[in-house]
Amino acid sequence: MNNLNKSYELEDLSKWNEGSGTEQRPAILSVFGDPVKHSLSPNMHNPALQNCGIDGEYIKIRVPEDNFTQALSKIKDLGFHGTNCTIPLKFEALNACDHVDHAAKRMGAVNTISFENGKVIGSNSDGPGLVRAIREEFSIDIRDLRVMILGAGGGAGRAVAIQCAMEKVESLVLVNRTIEKAKQLSSELENDFMDDNIHKGPSRLKVIEWSKLGLTTEISDVDLIINASSLGMSSSDPELISQNLLEPHHLIYDMIYSPSKTKLIRDGISIGARTANGLSMLLHQGAISFETWFNQEAPVEVMKKGLEDAIQPEIN
Ligand code: NAP
Repeated sequence: MNNLNKSYELEDLSKWNEGSGTEQRPAILSVFGDPVKHSLSPNMHNPALQNCGIDGEYIKIRVPEDNFTQALSKIKDLGFHGTNCTIPLKFEALNACDHVDHAAKRMGAVNTISFENGKVIGSNSDGPGLVRAIREEFSIDIRDLRVMILGAGGGAGRAVAIQCAMEKVESLVLVNRTIEKAKQLSSELENDFMDDNIHKGPSRLKVIEWSKLGLTTEISDVDLIINASSLGMSSSDPELISQNLLEPHHLIYDMIYSPSKTKLIRDGISIGARTANGLSMLLHQGAISFETWFNQEAPVEVMKKGLEDAIQPEIN
């Protein structure tokens, strides 16, 4: 297997011939991003390809936004099955597709592209990946939960909020530093929360201010708290939420996986709440992409081991 940490440039692609390239095995899948070096996707997809006896490599390609269309048509010509797209290319990806599924259209973002009969097909596995992750981590379906999303106005928060709406969760509280973004999202979700059940009205969907007062009014009445903001990646980040607002009945899901134990997770553990980090979401969104490309079940355990091997154990 090639060096999983290597990332390629667009110019490298022009030197490749179909099915050969510079690799031991032909590159057939990729992740586009800028930057992309940090991506762990090859660490889960390459073992999966090997495990399923598929001859090919999954590689990282740094693609600047302006070169997205060029890069996409290059890998299509080279015979790739498709590509993942990460920051900041999920919007470019949406626009470059011939067909985009309903969920990705609503999210305004595509993270999985496949080439089918000459057409470019887009979907988004982030939301469904989170649903599977919650089921795996907490043995419960997200639709049975009252959910609060911190950072609902970011790209990931938006995808997850839309997925929650499509899953028809019990209730949804949107929290975002820039409250206008959460309000805009809420207006897009209103119809999902108006159903013919008289007991389930629009109040199942709320936007609150990201303040101690705002959080205090709602937090006791939610089951699942999701951190979809980038707060917590660095130890110098401001506090996401005060520990004394957390309660033992809370399920806490931090989409951040590096560090594996953010302050939110540590606070949750110390008050007796159940917690999980974003590695399971990363895994399951990858598994769903794999299923999209190959129309077969992904070897999830093999992919999980690939990810775990890639993440350095942290000394806490
Ligand atoms: P993004 O689009 O840049 O959104 C960032 C979010 O964080 C926004 O809601 C932003 O609020 C908020 N934020 C940033 N700094 C803040 C601060 N100082 N105080 C309060 N809120 C702040 O990024 P993204 O792509 O959604 O990613 C967000 C996080 O999710 C990242 O940590 C990323 O690694 C993680 N993620 C994990 C997975 C996974 O598979 N586990 C997948 C995707 C993303 P404003 O709107 O006010 O700016």
